[in-house]
Amino acid sequence: MVELQIAARGIHNQRVLAAMLEIPRHLFIPPPYDRAAYEDNPLSIGSGQTISQPYMVAKMTELLALTPQSRVLEIGTGSGYQAAVLAELAADVVSVERFSHLAEAARQTLEALEYGNVTVVVGDGSLGWPERAPYDGIIVTAAAPALPPSLRSQLAPGGRLVCPVGSRDLQQLKVLVRGPEDRFAEHDSIRCMFVPLVGREGWSA
Ligand code: SAM
Repeated sequence: MVELQIAARGIHNQRVLAAMLEIPRHLFIPPPYDRAAYEDNPLSIGSGQTISQPYMVAKMTELLALTPQSRVLEIGTGSGYQAAVLAELAADVVSVERFSHLAEAARQTLEALEYGNVTVVVGDGSLGWPERAPYDGIIVTAAAPALPPSLRSQLAPGGRLVCPVGSRDLQQLKVLVRGPEDRFAEHDSIRCMFVPLVGREGWSA
């Protein structure tokens, strides 16, 4: 998976590749889809939600440019797999999920794998998680109609927000960087297709 789907497509960050080699992705996916855990596509995790395609996890993680000291916020815990990748690369991870049963399942998987630096919480992640802000990296693994202002305000100076923005069917991955004196720079990365971010600063349903 890492060699053929990720490195071969231009992801060269050695820390990202090493993290994804390390993590047993099949443990994050309920049967019967766990048999396809290392294939090149998103998979169902129930409740109409998905675990993202491995390449998309790698691409978004690389765009965050994390260091071992980074404090990270993830919106959309889903299976917990992306949170595990973040936990390998950063000091501290908060992950927000709107469905409590998905949050609980992810929590159990992450605990079983002894990721002590991840906190999974239930809530409307379109509003971020202000209790632990600011963050050096914020990753949104669901599609927003526009960059949520709350997430922007919870970025630390130098911090990066990676978020799919667009229609419900097709999005562009946006990268927002908070520079000095509160100047923000934004650029587009690849096109993508995510399930909707449902919340106050996302889609209404
Ligand atoms: N990162 C996940 C993983 O590694 O499995 C995949 C995330 S899945 C593509 C998108 C997730 O975002 C779903 O679990 C969905 O319930 C969640 N979600 C959607 N809107 C949300 C919101 N406002 N707050 C928190 N989670 C939300």
